[in-house]
Amino acid sequence: MNFYDCIIVGSGIAGLYTALLAKDVGTVLVLTKGSIEDCNTRHAQGGIAAAIGKNDSSDLHFQDTISAGDGLCDIKAVRTLVDEAPDRIADLIKFGVPFDTVDGQIALTKEAAHTVPRILHAGGDATGEHIEVTLSRRVRMSPIKVMEYCLVTEIIVDENNVIGIKAIDSRTGSVLEYESRCIILATGGAGRLFKYTTNSEVATGDGIALAYSAGAEIADMEFFQFHPTVLRLPGVPSFLISEAVRGEGGLLRNVEGYRFMPDYTQDAELAPRDIVARSIVYEMSKTGSDRVFLDVTHLSPQLITARFPHIYRFCLDRGLDITKGLIPVAPAAHYLMGGVMVNTWGETNISGLFAAGEVACTGVHGANRLASNSLLEVVVFSKRIIEKMRSASSRKIKSKKSINKYYSIQKPKNTEVRLLLNLPNLETLLWDKVGIVRTGEGLSEAAEILATWEQCLPSCVDRATYELHSMILTARLMTEAALYREESRGAHFRSDFPNQVSSWQRHLLFRSW
Ligand SMILES: Cc1cc2nc3c(=O)[nH]c(=O)nc-3n(C[C@H](O)[C@H](O)[C@H](O)COP(=O)(O)OP(=O)(O)OC[C@H]3O[C@@H](n4cnc5c(N)ncnc54)[C@H](O)[C@@H]3O)c2cc1C
Repeated sequence: MNFYDCIIVGSGIAGLYTALLAKDVGTVLVLTKGSIEDCNTRHAQGGIAAAIGKNDSSDLHFQDTISAGDGLCDIKAVRTLVDEAPDRIADLIKFGVPFDTVDGQIALTKEAAHTVPRILHAGGDATGEHIEVTLSRRVRMSPIKVMEYCLVTEIIVDENNVIGIKAIDSRTGSVLEYESRCIILATGGAGRLFKYTTNSEVATGDGIALAYSAGAEIADMEFFQFHPTVLRLPGVPSFLISEAVRGEGGLLRNVEGYRFMPDYTQDAELAPRDIVARSIVYEMSKTGSDRVFLDVTHLSPQLITARFPHIYRFCLDRGLDITKGLIPVAPAAHYLMGGVMVNTWGETNISGLFAAGEVACTGVHGANRLASNSLLEVVVFSKRIIEKMRSASSRKIKSKKSINKYYSIQKPKNTEVRLLLNLPNLETLLWDKVGIVRTGEGLSEAAEILATWEQCLPSCVDRATYELHSMILTARLMTEAALYREESRGAHFRSDFPNQVSSWQRHLLFRSW
């Protein structure tokens, strides 16, 4: 068994950024299940939020984040996020991330639910790609050891202390074991659980399943964000049409050409994502269509091609010139607000186990993430993990949230489930029953099917079977959390409990023992 001072699982922004900081503290191993650049980060378009503009302040950023989070943000974590943002942006610039500028100043754009323009971007709408390429290049030039195509399958824990991990090399099938007293989970989200998603194929909830199985606390799983505007063209894979397109003036029209958002909310197209996504769902059902349209034809073609070169080119290559024609869009699964519960130092309840990025639940997003706060969350809290590692303090880790009790996932009843367990059925089940508009009946049905499927999972032999195990466990946590929460708040909407309930202003926390 090989020893490293720090083992990092994942090579998105969270994995690479923590690796680059951790290398100054000791030896670092990064394990990643695909190639180094297979991740969600690479697909991020809009940008990264930070209060660096003239008319902005960390207090304004704080207020916008809190109001999007709908009563469930962790105040201390949000304060940390907004206060440390400018310094972390400076770090990214030092690493070489080429943020766009206008007249020598960093260019800032506005996105939904931000009161002022505060989104930095790179390459117009290719922010994630620039960050990923910049960081991965630095990692490749450093002494950090990176093992691609190695899927982590278990976190080894002894008396609540992390001691190592197990993995399989997907190319050879060999089982690997590494020892460390510091393991950072940076495995990203779980968007692949849903039939329609913006997420890359690696987003299968592995980190949540690994942490839960090791005894870590998992929080806020019922809060999953659906992005309102994802390209819906026949035969074309899901492709995000960034929030920033509406920020620059894009309008939503139904199939009859009618601009419908002002009928739902005074913020119209710039309302928070959950409101826009639900409004689109209602409008699609009213008009009997599976799509609506995003209209940018009134904007100058120069603005469109300069600000959204990637989106413009992607659509043009598929026969759609967005400067002249309407963009067919519909909502899709996008971002997991919940995850492995951590404090403001990225620590879980297991000593030596940290979580960073989308797999973690720092509490900054509450029930609904403010656009472009996730890349920021990664850099702010990753830096703090390494500071904690550096100080090597052995503070007793305490739960930070107001938890009354732990929830656990249910034992399956002896119902017969005729639906075959396979990936398309799983994705359809989650989309239909655990999607944008939920009901107790649909959630109960999904919970029962998932529990039964868990009993008949194939043995873990390769990446696909390991991922299926992780997806079922993650789906169970998400579905059962959504079933417990009998109210609507943020991204979690129950048509049988459409109102917010003050006694539910608390977190749902799962633990396996
Ligand atoms: C299309 C799209 C657009 C977005 N736009 C924005 C935006 O404009 N602004 C913003 O702030 N956020 C945006 N987001 C969200 C943001 O990009 C992600 O939340 C963020 O990039 C997550 O980074 P991460 O490092 O946590 O995860 P990822 O980038 O997804 O990386 C996860 C890594 O973990 C690896 N991994 C997973 N499981 C295992 C395992 N078992 N063993 C080994 N390795 C494993 C994966 O291979 C991958 O390398 C967007 C997301 C998408 C999908």
